[in-house]
Amino acid sequence: MGKEALSIEGNTFQFFTRNPRGSRSKKIDPEDAEALCRLLREKGFGPIIAHAPYTLNPCSADAHTREFALETLADDLFRMEYIPGNLYNFHPGSHVGQGAEEGIRLIADALNKVLKPEMHTTVLLETMAGKGSEVGRTFEELRAVLDRVELSEKMGVCLDTCHVHDAGYDIAGNLDGVLREFDRCIGIEKLKALHINDSKNPLGSHKDRHEKIGLGNIGEEAFSRIVRHPWLKDLPMCLETPNDLMGYEKEIALLRGFSGEPCLSEG
Ligand code: FE
Ligand code: FE
Ligand code: ZN
Repeated sequence: MGKEALSIEGNTFQFFTRNPRGSRSKKIDPEDAEALCRLLREKGFGPIIAHAPYTLNPCSADAHTREFALETLADDLFRMEYIPGNLYNFHPGSHVGQGAEEGIRLIADALNKVLKPEMHTTVLLETMAGKGSEVGRTFEELRAVLDRVELSEKMGVCLDTCHVHDAGYDIAGNLDGVLREFDRCIGIEKLKALHINDSKNPLGSHKDRHEKIGLGNIGEEAFSRIVRHPWLKDLPMCLETPNDLMGYEKEIALLRGFSGEPCLSEG
């Protein structure tokens, strides 16, 4: 994965810890993990992002689904210790009618069970589009989860540009205003990574359909401001646009052209 990122001028990347729609994970080879850590160090990568499977729902109404989420989180975080000092991102979950408040309580409960003081990973809540009953559609909801987590120094947020736009935050028209709002609600120091995606849908649509950079409703100009923004420019940025490797290579070159040197690779 590191080599593929390098081949398209990336200096970070995101990977799924297991099948994104399932549960099985491969066994870890400690030597492979070592080799990856060495490559990341030698090539000057920024932090890399592991993404939990989409099926993970720590605030499900169903006890078995919550149990699966707990086991997966615990196992993933255990495995992350083979590549210490990196980021683990997950979708907070869907409260499926129980209400956002109950969802927030269950998500924080799960984190309090799996986070351990000796861990070397920063766990990120992803900002969500607010499709269905997704928790994390507002900065306030994310803040409410973070407030309930005991080991809060191990927590952060990953801002997905498509998701916040679909959630109704106007990052295309008022980037500064949205970031100030993030800072007021959560604290900008909690922002640890970005997902760089254009959106197929209008502001506030609560849809979550990613588009190639410049072809959606956020638009190329907005991305040029995003990757250059002083609060954002040094964060790891991962593309999750509908692309093949060549498409990602082009988008990385485009974004690097705007900014000088952001740290980018494919999702
Ligand atoms: Fe995601
Ligand atoms: Fe994302
Ligand atoms: Zn998405």
